[in-house]
Amino acid sequence: MTIQIKSLVAREVLDSRGNPTVAVRATLSDGLSAEAMVPSGASTGVHEALELRDGDPLRYGGAGVLKAVENVNTRIFEALQSIDLADQRLVDQTMIDLDGTENKSVLGANAMLGVSLAVAQVVAKAKHLPLYAYIRELAPWAGKDYRLPYPMMNIINGGKHSNNGLEIQEFMIVPQQHDFHERIRCGAEVFHALKKILDEGGHSTGVGDEGGFAPNLHRNEEALHQITEAVKAAGYILGVDVKIAMDPASSEFFNDGSYTFDGTQISAKELTDIYDHWIDKYSIVSIEDGLAEDDWDNWKIHTEQLGGRITLVGDDLFVTNQKRLQEGIDNGVGNAILIKLNQIGTLTETLDTIKLARDNNYLVVVSHRSGETEDTTIADLAVGINSDYIKTGSLSRSERVAKYNRLMAIEAECS
Ligand code: PGA
Ligand code: ZN
Repeated sequence: MTIQIKSLVAREVLDSRGNPTVAVRATLSDGLSAEAMVPSGASTGVHEALELRDGDPLRYGGAGVLKAVENVNTRIFEALQSIDLADQRLVDQTMIDLDGTENKSVLGANAMLGVSLAVAQVVAKAKHLPLYAYIRELAPWAGKDYRLPYPMMNIINGGKHSNNGLEIQEFMIVPQQHDFHERIRCGAEVFHALKKILDEGGHSTGVGDEGGFAPNLHRNEEALHQITEAVKAAGYILGVDVKIAMDPASSEFFNDGSYTFDGTQISAKELTDIYDHWIDKYSIVSIEDGLAEDDWDNWKIHTEQLGGRITLVGDDLFVTNQKRLQEGIDNGVGNAILIKLNQIGTLTETLDTIKLARDNNYLVVVSHRSGETEDTTIADLAVGINSDYIKTGSLSRSERVAKYNRLMAIEAECS
């Protein structure tokens, strides 16, 4: 039985920062339909697929996505009309061929991803499968059982996601409890304890783009100290119940061969030594983009120094791209990959990249973007491929919490 598209309708909607993004509704001839919304980053890697924006200064300051919307409604819809939607690889390859560029700059990765996900969702419905189970059909190599990921919860925001001057973009807690809903409870309790501590210390408790606090701290290490205190105050033991992860997103503070850190210029080696010193002191289990996206030679040394003890995640470094990941594998760079669907632009390519990571014993962290919507696809993706971790923000703001709530629903369904 083939599954055929009846209509494909894209619209401009808003993301969590109030910027326009693409929503796509796919409808089948029997009336079944599903809608996907595309996320958007702020600290985007230079090697990501292109997010097509209109550049018309009279609309949304140039950030409108009407061209991407138009591409879905006309060219992509036409190309998919005679195709069996149950063949996700064919759907995605058809768009890739239609686009014809390496970085998806003709149709826009935002247009293509909206279609790719809306199609996957509506086909899951047609097959009477929850989305995570349909994704598992597309990724049978993930095994038989469903496993819930460990959440990396970003409770202090810096870098491009706030204006507090901290260079490190994300300070995250990783609760270690057995049950997923207990990891959520632990995270929320630490989050509330941190709010109280910051408040009593005279700091702002306003939140940044991903729902974590964005206090004005003088040095990056102070954030780790505040989190340590919060874990204790919530009644947990750091290193046992809760571990810490960081995303320095260091491409953002890398310039001319050096890193501006705590206000001074330091080398890749000096920065790696700082991380090294913090690993035991703060029970750090994972560092993402500890060095910049094209600092390959130093990344290799960084991996040799830290990779035996902690997870080293490539985000801007690998951009969910098989070729970049392969380069990392070949050169002994990193030992984990961040997975963001919109960095590459289709579900099939995303799954291919995850498989390449799995085949080479790289850990997998499925991730949101700093600009998100109510779409919860990444929760299903994480379970569908048995991701080791999911990074989807803090314990506040509905576009973040929606993913945790979806994961708790999946947990209830699977147990
Ligand atoms: P972005 O940040 O979505 O703004 O790129 C997330 C990250 O760097 O992991
Ligand atoms: Zn990152």
